[in-house]
Amino acid sequence: MSAPHDLEPGLLDTSFDPRATVRAGEINAHTHLYSGLAPLGMPAPPRTPQSFVEILELVWWRLDRALDEDSLRASARLYLAEALLAGTTTVIDHHESPNFIEGSLDVLAEEAQRLGARLLVAYGATERNGGRDEAQRGLDECTRFIRANRFPNVRGLIGLHAAFTVSDQTIREAGEVARALGVGVHVHVAEDRADLDDAQRRGFESPLERLIALGALPAGSLVAHGVWLDEASVRRVDAAGAWLVQNPRSNANNRVGYPRALHASTRVAVGTDGFDANMPLEHAALLAQALEHGDPADAATLDARRTGAWRLAADLLGTRFDARLDEGSAGDVVVGVPGEPPRTVLVEGRVVVRDGRLVHGDLEAIRAHAREQASLLWARMAAL
Ligand SMILES: [Zn+2]
Repeated sequence: MSAPHDLEPGLLDTSFDPRATVRAGEINAHTHLYSGLAPLGMPAPPRTPQSFVEILELVWWRLDRALDEDSLRASARLYLAEALLAGTTTVIDHHESPNFIEGSLDVLAEEAQRLGARLLVAYGATERNGGRDEAQRGLDECTRFIRANRFPNVRGLIGLHAAFTVSDQTIREAGEVARALGVGVHVHVAEDRADLDDAQRRGFESPLERLIALGALPAGSLVAHGVWLDEASVRRVDAAGAWLVQNPRSNANNRVGYPRALHASTRVAVGTDGFDANMPLEHAALLAQALEHGDPADAATLDARRTGAWRLAADLLGTRFDARLDEGSAGDVVVGVPGEPPRTVLVEGRVVVRDGRLVHGDLEAIRAHAREQASLLWARMAAL
């Protein structure tokens, strides 16, 4: 490859601290950039949610309806800035903003490009607000983005929110367009018992079986959660060439259960599902939960998931994680003391964090803008 212009000598130097290392950038394999403003004072729901579905209805499905272009942009910018500063070079996003669908994936891609992050986007098509028409618009947004994409470090997948918020027809169409475009489908599967119950009411063994039966799990698909999948189902995801993503903090927070069958596949990565992109924190949560739940893979789980994430990024995004400065070549790497904010971060050989600061953005200005947009967003949310 041609030599990226900013690989100057000393860039990968670790002599500033004997504990410092040069290592692969972290991958957040499932999250929601649209929730990036939530830590900035999102108001409590009108009443306390009593179930997982109520958490969606009273919190996240109100937030997503209140989003417009400006608030989404501020949200993505803040989230991606903090991700890079934490050494997370790749973010895999699952997006929904029902009142701003067309062009929404470009907003996310523009913010990733501005800061230098690597991003994989999908609009999660759903019928929960506007029926089949809404689902069609979601699938069309994915298709439009993938066909027109000119962002070098951003790629797209076809997205479905979850099997329980779409009809068979929408699932079939998602599979058809994904296959036509040669990409996978990014979808929440068996996060909560409610998704399993819904599939069984519709005559399927599970939401996974429904997706497979309707042709919507092509190779390269991303199955988020899989909390309620058994080992045979996890092996079916693996056999399909699809990836599972475990989200430890989110699963614990939503009290949906522990995904005890995921060890049956080696194609498993870790995501934060809307929590910040600090992967060491997410990994610590994973380790604690694996031990607590007697996961058969226990301590080895963490290594397997991290390796899985790097394989996923190499497969779906073509990411490299090596650095050969003498040859003027580097991929996505982080320089710093493990457990501390990185000193230098490179994405595709470009410096995006230097001396612990963003190269292409001002964190304080980004935070100030985010706070302004957040207060407008909370006002719109309150009126819903
Ligand atoms: Zn999610």
